[in-house]
Amino acid sequence: MRALLLYNTSSGRGRIWHHIADIRAIFAGAGIDITPREINFQRNPFEGAKDTELVVVCGGDGTVNFVVNKMKQEGLDPILGIIPAGTANDFAHAIGMDSTILGAAHQIAHGTVRRVDCGKANDKYFVNILSFGVLTTTSQHTSNIAKHLIGKLAYLRTGMIDLLDLHHIPLTLRYNGEEIKVDAAMFLAFNGNSAGQFKLAPKSNIEDGMLDILVLDYDNRVRTCWNMMNYLINHESEAVHHLRCERIELDCNIDEHTDIDGQPGPQMPLRIECLAGALKIKA
Ligand SMILES: [Mg+2]
Repeated sequence: MRALLLYNTSSGRGRIWHHIADIRAIFAGAGIDITPREINFQRNPFEGAKDTELVVVCGGDGTVNFVVNKMKQEGLDPILGIIPAGTANDFAHAIGMDSTILGAAHQIAHGTVRRVDCGKANDKYFVNILSFGVLTTTSQHTSNIAKHLIGKLAYLRTGMIDLLDLHHIPLTLRYNGEEIKVDAAMFLAFNGNSAGQFKLAPKSNIEDGMLDILVLDYDNRVRTCWNMMNYLINHESEAVHHLRCERIELDCNIDEHTDIDGQPGPQMPLRIECLAGALKIKA
């Protein structure tokens, strides 16, 4: 089996580099000779390796997003393994990966292959979440240096600043033959079930061919904070609407920036869909 280990040294706190030899040894123990390659985000990670059968990505959600987009653009369908090594590893958690680097490597090397869903918004793919509105671009606004130094606290700090940017987003949603208009503060479309390690969509299933969507109504800053806290604690709030669908179309007459897996996402209008079983996962 031709296998490639794509790793991002700027993921997490740069710990990955020390583990490369151990990861290779774990795969060798399962009879898999894996070639390590550091990801260069300016280049195609599959250059000269298009016949790769197994791609193990060592990084966070953003790194997985990059690799999956390149893979799909190239029309490749290798088996994927995910070693969680970023600040946010929501996709890895959603597919049940061990939270340690070597534990996950072992799980992939000796695991079985199954299919899970992949999200797509316009021409971009996402593995965990597409979002926009208050707090959703926090990851994009948080510097890598801050993430490395203070980890999750960096998101919290930037998140508090982002709360000042609360504004209403007039949306038209079309799904399951219905059209509804909402004044939203936040929109989340889940393929996985968590965002920033907050399990916001506990009922979301990555193998059901559907996206779980949460829409938070716009209100003033105090009530919006209250509604979000309430939802985080009780997993329900009158201000949060939950819907489940295979695809949804969104129109919005303001230039609202979107986020996919912690990276800049496509522009409005959006056509978001769940591609059932579009990723082969070894775990
Ligand atoms: Mg689902």
